[in-house]
Amino acid sequence: MLGIAVGDLRARPVGFQQAVELRVSPEDLPDLGLAGWLEAEGQATNLGEDGVRVELQVSATLRRSCARCLQDADLPVRAEAEETYHESGEEPLITADTIDLGPIIHEAIVLAEPMRVLCKPDCRGLCPQCGKDLNEGPCECTDDDQDPRLAPLAKLLRPREE
Ligand SMILES: [Zn+2]
Ligand SMILES: [Zn+2]
Repeated sequence: MLGIAVGDLRARPVGFQQAVELRVSPEDLPDLGLAGWLEAEGQATNLGEDGVRVELQVSATLRRSCARCLQDADLPVRAEAEETYHESGEEPLITADTIDLGPIIHEAIVLAEPMRVLCKPDCRGLCPQCGKDLNEGPCECTDDDQDPRLAPLAKLLRPREE
């Protein structure tokens, strides 16, 4: 749980704001696959009887696999998260003067993540025949032993001559 105490904030006048700054280790949000610390900063606002409003900027680097070559690809992501925490009734609730920022940070990152990740825009991918990572150099495959049905694809995937 990424809780912050809001007891002092709740004792202040309505409209009072408190800065929020969090550094979250990858172990605290294990299913996001973070490559390093996640940072969240913003503010919490006392809404009086309506609870506490939180607005955050979240930035993180996600460790993913490249869609073409399957190597690790680190993906920087920035997202905004906001939520109102209530005293009673509608969730999420303020519990023991604490609010849990974990769920909104988690959701913001998931929504900001692109569907397709490449290690670099011009990643050459793997050879469709031998599986060699073509970013490391050309493979031994020749046109002769290609399945003709794969030839157009292989041509697309073959590294440019330099
Ligand atoms: Zn790649
Ligand atoms: Zn090959």
